[in-house]
Amino acid sequence: MTSAYDKPIPIPANEQLTKPFWEAAKRKELIIPYCNSCSNLFFYPREVCPNCFSKDLTWKKMSGNGRVYSYTHVRQSVHPSFQSSHGHIYAIVELDEGPKIPSGIVGCKPEDVYVDMPVFVAFDEVTEEVTLVIFQKA
Ligand SMILES: [Zn+2]
Repeated sequence: MTSAYDKPIPIPANEQLTKPFWEAAKRKELIIPYCNSCSNLFFYPREVCPNCFSKDLTWKKMSGNGRVYSYTHVRQSVHPSFQSSHGHIYAIVELDEGPKIPSGIVGCKPEDVYVDMPVFVAFDEVTEEVTLVIFQKA
């Protein structure tokens, strides 16, 4: 997918904790932290499970299907790289597997986005090193 951004974007810190997520995105896979102790899927990545505080964590591949849980049409971004003539949609997507993930919605007009809209994961190859997880209308 061609990037919609025409200015440099902030690059995610390649910390050990989030490295698997970004490497999976480059492979066009969406993975989410999973707790082996209580079966909790959660996002954002953390060093302990937010449900039971276990450190016995792994990653699970998601289907990529979800629905818009909430969204806003950002017309004036706080970062210039995300500014475009029409702004962009910042959304919370609830994955079919349960966890919610903040992301962008692409492939439709901002006014066409609605709560509970089915979406499917897409990947924005912003640079050779960074691929962002985004969603498009299913
Ligand atoms: Zn847990």
